[in-house]
Amino acid sequence: MTPPASRTPVLECIGVERSFGGLKALKGVNLSIAEGEIVGLVGPNGSGKTTMVNVITGFYPPQAGQVKLFGQDITGMRPYRIAQHAVARTFQNLALFRGMSVLDNILLGRHVHMKPGALASLFYWAWAAREETVHREVAEDIIDFLQLQDVRDDAIETVPPGLQKRVELARALASEPRLLILDEPMAGMNQEEKEYIARFILDARDERGVSILLIEHHMDVVTSLCDQVLVLSHGEAIASGTPREAISSPQVVAAYLGQRAAARAGASA
Ligand code: ADP
Ligand code: MG
Repeated sequence: MTPPASRTPVLECIGVERSFGGLKALKGVNLSIAEGEIVGLVGPNGSGKTTMVNVITGFYPPQAGQVKLFGQDITGMRPYRIAQHAVARTFQNLALFRGMSVLDNILLGRHVHMKPGALASLFYWAWAAREETVHREVAEDIIDFLQLQDVRDDAIETVPPGLQKRVELARALASEPRLLILDEPMAGMNQEEKEYIARFILDARDERGVSILLIEHHMDVVTSLCDQVLVLSHGEAIASGTPREAISSPQVVAAYLGQRAAARAGASA
């Protein structure tokens, strides 16, 4: 039997507001993730999904509202401090380090666990070697989990784009997060790669106990993976609940139809 999930939400965002100049990108958004949940953050392009991720992870502090992680207020905290609160993310655009191997990119995910004064630790080489072994063991475990053995020593820029996306996931997981935020992890992938990532998302939750915020603009993906969804349109939450409830909401249908109509008008212009 699985133990009862703790009552304190993993993540709680209350009335989050964020503007860029005159543009209100987020208008009082509430979002909550319970332990062990996969929550989808959905919405047409430009609806504020990535901005929400940037607010949660401290890249863009909110101008109003509050963000709590495991019950602790982290509003306005710097990104590196937030990363130490067992949160990891991937970026909508690949953010890997060229010139480094797959393994080294994954090991970078361990930095949140490295002791301050890593340089000083070089003098205590025996201790440092032991630290290094632990980090490598975690990285190797994740390489197995994500089936990256065949490319582990390859330079990252020589690895196909779909696999690079998987390396970014591996790096996020290497920090052993309790909350994993994935910003459109399937963008640009073929069907087989998408199915692989979907499997990984479920396994990360089921086998590693990670709660997940999944950003997607395709409704069908979240419908099959998520316990709960929040739908944004023009920075406003227009629906929330189970995926089934959300897709039947007239506002959601209108937001997606509006986007298609705009795309058609653009194409015929
Ligand atoms: P989504 O991820 O849902 O596609 P974003 O959160 O990236 O949407 O963007 C929401 C709105 O905020 C868009 O209109 C976008 O142009 C604007 N925006 C996002 N980041 C910035 C920024 N750093 N400066 C100015 N405008 C931004
Ligand atoms: Mg985005």
